[in-house]
Amino acid sequence: MTFQPVFDKIERPVLIAGPCSAETEAQVMETAHGLAAQGIDLYRAGIWKPRTKPGGFEGVGTEGLAWLRRVKQEVGLKTTTEVANTQHVFEALKYGIDVLWIGARTTVNPFSVQEVADALAGVDIPILIKNPVNADLKLWMGAIERIYKAGIKRIAAVHRGFSVHGETKFRNAPLWQLPIELKRQFPDLQIICDHSHICGRRDTLAPIAQQALDLGYDGLMTEVHPRPDEAWSDAEQQITPFTYGEMVRNLTARKLTTTNADFLKSLDYLRHQIDELDDRLMQLLGSRMKLADQIGEYKKQNNISIYQPSRWNEILEQAMEKVRRSA
Ligand code: PEP
Ligand code: MN
Repeated sequence: MTFQPVFDKIERPVLIAGPCSAETEAQVMETAHGLAAQGIDLYRAGIWKPRTKPGGFEGVGTEGLAWLRRVKQEVGLKTTTEVANTQHVFEALKYGIDVLWIGARTTVNPFSVQEVADALAGVDIPILIKNPVNADLKLWMGAIERIYKAGIKRIAAVHRGFSVHGETKFRNAPLWQLPIELKRQFPDLQIICDHSHICGRRDTLAPIAQQALDLGYDGLMTEVHPRPDEAWSDAEQQITPFTYGEMVRNLTARKLTTTNADFLKSLDYLRHQIDELDDRLMQLLGSRMKLADQIGEYKKQNNISIYQPSRWNEILEQAMEKVRRSA
């Protein structure tokens, strides 16, 4: 698969921002004016909202598409919204939405992704594909492939984190190694970090955005609301257009590489040392595994169970003692 860029902007990051949900025409317009002043590239707003439980705010539906059309006409911002079925695709196209996105709860279901892909056949529109809620890289790649096979070449991936039981620091754990592997397999695929759904709160949005830029991401998707505390969905993670502008101005987009010979030589030297240490670590780990194998075999011959609470306690106590000493 060879992808074409969704965003032509050379200078990173590409900025996608807007409310979690379109709530009222006034809220959509106010947010759009606030964000246009901060210089964003694409305006987002959920029209159909996939909620974990029924009874919550499930989006304003088609009515809100006319508000997004107004944003484009009056404020001059391109727009994007989430689609999850044929009707969503047709309605969004009818109202001239510029970019469509597939949400995490849709990427997880191949039937739904295929339905969206079939609805898109013959249409040339960029598509953003969020990672599935669970940490399954193949499922993410499968969704990308289904959309690609519908004839869409302008595809970008959106990393919004993965749902992990018991996770407290993040709403959705970033598990950076998955998007890094996605990028390794599809080097020409642009990647956007949706830090709002990773963080689930306001105070960690800036460091996670910076981390994404440090990892070479192409852009950010951020939820922005004029009065975040009053938002009808995802209130805890939304920020005002002003706070958003300040955050973006404080980010540093690092260069992806350089031709500076001194820098490259020093980097090479440090990397060489790391490679040598890695070799030694692998050898040590191999020797350790051989010993563990021998212990297992020895226990089996003597009919002793694998798990021995006294040894386990001894290991835990030793580890705790080491932590106490280093604290
Ligand atoms: C959203 O972007 O508002 C949304 C529903 O996100 P996700 O699909 O990542 O949960
Ligand atoms: Mn949201």
